Amino acid sequence: MADLLDNLKQLVELDRAFGIEFQGKPVGQLPPLPMSSPRPVAANLQPATSGQRSAASSQQPAASGQRPALPSLSGLASADLDAIAVSISQCRACGLCQQRTKTVPGEGPSTPELVFVGEGPGADEDASGRPFVGAAGQLLDKMIAAMGMKREEVFICNVVKCRPPGNRAPEPDEMAACLPFLEAQLAALKPKAICLLGATPLKALLGLTGITRLHGQRKEWRGVPVIPSFHPAYLLRNAEAKKPAWEDLKIVLGVLGREPPKR
Ligand code: SF4
Repeated sequence: MADLLDNLKQLVELDRAFGIEFQGKPVGQLPPLPMSSPRPVAANLQPATSGQRSAASSQQPAASGQRPALPSLSGLASADLDAIAVSISQCRACGLCQQRTKTVPGEGPSTPELVFVGEGPGADEDASGRPFVGAAGQLLDKMIAAMGMKREEVFICNVVKCRPPGNRAPEPDEMAACLPFLEAQLAALKPKAICLLGATPLKALLGLTGITRLHGQRKEWRGVPVIPSFHPAYLLRNAEAKKPAWEDLKIVLGVLGREPPKR
């Protein structure tokens, strides 16, 4: 009974911490998580060949399996975020370009301590060109606030920069085509920590599957600490994941040398 009361107390504290009453379904089996396919082709930070540049500038997406064409990305490690965003806006390296309204490169300061990486734009993001502005974005804002930080302090982006139709998970070839943009952004941002939101960035950036097993475990990407956690959309559907998600965020804070705010 004492354990039960303690758990209930923790859940109430989490609701307060995230500032939201989760619309979760009853505790039960976690729904299947996407991304069980092999790791996509590793990002190549070399400039595209002239033939690839030509393919990128056409009005058709690159053929499936073709190396993605990335115009204007020479010197990616030092490319500034605006240049990367311009390249994204011109990109037709995968089929997701065909139905997009706006590309969603991501937003935030150029020297953030923390980068959140989600899956891909939804309808609200596709319409606005901004990441995490729908219901999941509102929850992410509250999660960031619970950490004692402001949205304006962190950089927020996704694995794919164009909306997958029907909000499906991006296909492996789409992730592989878009990954060089994410890698270029992270190389330019040089954050102290990266928080992966869900199975898709875990697979895309680290080549790992099993977010329910790996969340909260410290990994590394090119020397930068990486903490996988759950996607806010998943938290909205699964009340049972909110407590472990908060524990993950506390690990992120620890990596940043910060304490959770006192309440
Ligand atoms: Fe290019 Fe990425 Fe959009 Fe595909 S999702 S068209 S690779 S920007």
